[in-house]
Amino acid sequence: MSTVKEKLIQNLTAEDKTSRCKITVVGVGNVGMACTISILLKGLADELALIDANANKLKGEALDLHHGSLFLSTPNIVYGTDYSVSANSKLVIITAGATMKVGESRLDLLQRNVEIMKGIVPGVVKNSPDCKIMIVANPVDILTYVVWKLSGFPVSHVIGSGCNLDSARFRYMIGEKLGVHPTSCHGWILGEHGDSSVPVWSGVNVAGVPLKSLIPGFGTDSDKEQWGMVHKQVIESGLEILRLKGCTSWAIGLSVTDMAGSILRNLRRVHPVSTLVKGLYGIKEDIFLSVPCILGRNGITDIVKVNLSPEEETLLRKSADILWNFQKDIQL
Ligand code: NAD
Repeated sequence: MSTVKEKLIQNLTAEDKTSRCKITVVGVGNVGMACTISILLKGLADELALIDANANKLKGEALDLHHGSLFLSTPNIVYGTDYSVSANSKLVIITAGATMKVGESRLDLLQRNVEIMKGIVPGVVKNSPDCKIMIVANPVDILTYVVWKLSGFPVSHVIGSGCNLDSARFRYMIGEKLGVHPTSCHGWILGEHGDSSVPVWSGVNVAGVPLKSLIPGFGTDSDKEQWGMVHKQVIESGLEILRLKGCTSWAIGLSVTDMAGSILRNLRRVHPVSTLVKGLYGIKEDIFLSVPCILGRNGITDIVKVNLSPEEETLLRKSADILWNFQKDIQL
């Protein structure tokens, strides 16, 4: 007796099941799922793998997405707690991480997340030895260093999401003040993804017009319009959202997807992402900080050399010192 399928479909040739454009997301919490839905809606991957240590949550998220297949153009969504499910990925996005407990120091949190990375990275490397890894979990700059060390990958293949989100917030907030869409407001936040990030006021412009040419002391304490507050808001906005909704998710998901697009489609767009900055701006240690990087299918292939003002360069070095203070005590 033939089955319905056999009666309906005549197979002509065997299907090549190898994916060409596979993305794995490790961690299906708030951030991981925001990255996932955003990647799916953009149709960036022909296969998407989800991995998490919490098997029930993982299965629930995967089934929920399967039921949306009618509205998506990613034919394969696979999941598992074992890293074999990630095999043959082009890009692996690590969002898994512990969040800070009450009374815990940043260093304690850091060491807990280092232990989590130790459990993740070998499985990623074994199953996708040629992939690019993007780290989103915090503290992102230090964890990018940790993943680089643990993976043994070339530095170009290990990318920290870094200040891509901070710069997006910066451009949105500048746009709000000017009544101009953020895509037309150009500005970069570099350095640490965090309190010591560096706004490059000297480069802020709309249509090539530097805003610092329009008002004395733009972005400094002597600026009468207090543009400096925009950077303060960028730093505080993550915490504010955390207080209001318990996590940040949508903007980081969109920002990660934008970078994933540059990598998978080999767009060679410039993003402020975290990479090894040893030898730049007088930094002598193995520190990862955000600088403008060209992202394409080979990961970070080039860095754009930004002419920082002496004050901006000093701030960037300070950012590096702060990170090194934490990083030097990590046990790998
Ligand atoms: P969450 O608690 O919602 O999710 C974390 C997920 O990781 C959970 O599903 C958990 O089960 C999983 N997990 C924990 N240990 C694991 C392991 N060893 N292997 C596999 N999975 C594991 O947290 P979230 O809100 O999604 O945040 C995730 C991380 O992203 C945090 O470190 C957060 O600080 C960071 N984050 C970064 C940015 C950025 O701009 N870089 C922005 C927002 C959040």
